[in-house]
Amino acid sequence: MPDPVLQAEGLEKTYGTGQAAVQAVRGIDLTLEAGERLLVMGPSGSGKTTLISMLGGMLTPSAGRVFLGGEDLYEHDERQRAHLRLRKLGFIFQSFNLLSALNARENIEVPMRLSRTPRSQARQRASEQLERLGLAERAAHRPRDLSGGEKQRVSIARALANEPQIILADEPTANLDSQNGRQVAEILSRLGTVEGKGVIIVSHDQRLQDIASRIVWIEDGRLDQRPQGDPVGVAG
Ligand code: ADP
Ligand code: MG
Repeated sequence: MPDPVLQAEGLEKTYGTGQAAVQAVRGIDLTLEAGERLLVMGPSGSGKTTLISMLGGMLTPSAGRVFLGGEDLYEHDERQRAHLRLRKLGFIFQSFNLLSALNARENIEVPMRLSRTPRSQARQRASEQLERLGLAERAAHRPRDLSGGEKQRVSIARALANEPQIILADEPTANLDSQNGRQVAEILSRLGTVEGKGVIIVSHDQRLQDIASRIVWIEDGRLDQRPQGDPVGVAG
């Protein structure tokens, strides 16, 4: 067995305290190997965004640990964690989260600037990403002049900019029509199958099942190997 690229142990998250406390994630363990495409499916409010934000170093767990290639993410201080995140993880959001004042190329260059990649190298890599994601003609367009599918491809290019081993995606197809959704699904699939990255997608989009190498379900902050409402396992 190869070493996992990502590992989570006993992850928990409670928002708020006392009467108002919400236990969004209640004890999740998971392991991701290189090349795997893990799909975590669950309805709205089941804890998907909370889980993936903790895996991505963006939300401190109430309990539990996250290891990226053996490094304990939350053992580091904020600055070190940001640095680790930049090198090891690419994150894709449902609503793209592109910077509206920057064009496509500049958005892709952001993580490389932050990781102090020399400018000429950053430009070169951004060009390659634009090319391979079919965005060469869109390099100088700002987000408001791009379609949803194009915006998501720019955000994938940005996630890949520092050549991370791990890609995390929160509902990456939710704001896309079926054609663009399929295209984004295929790109995410290739990142695992061809490039050997570990990919975790949280979603309730059934279309993503086709590209997953493993599917788990989340309900009320807990993982289950079987679909919800399927107590005897007939569907799985
Ligand atoms: P999903 O992404 O599956 O829709 P979330 O992780 O966003 O689920 O939310 C899980 C639960 O945690 C929900 O009950 C939600 O209302 C609650 N929640 C999410 N974020 C916060 C927050 N910042 N403060 C309080 N409760 C939150
Ligand atoms: Mg969510």
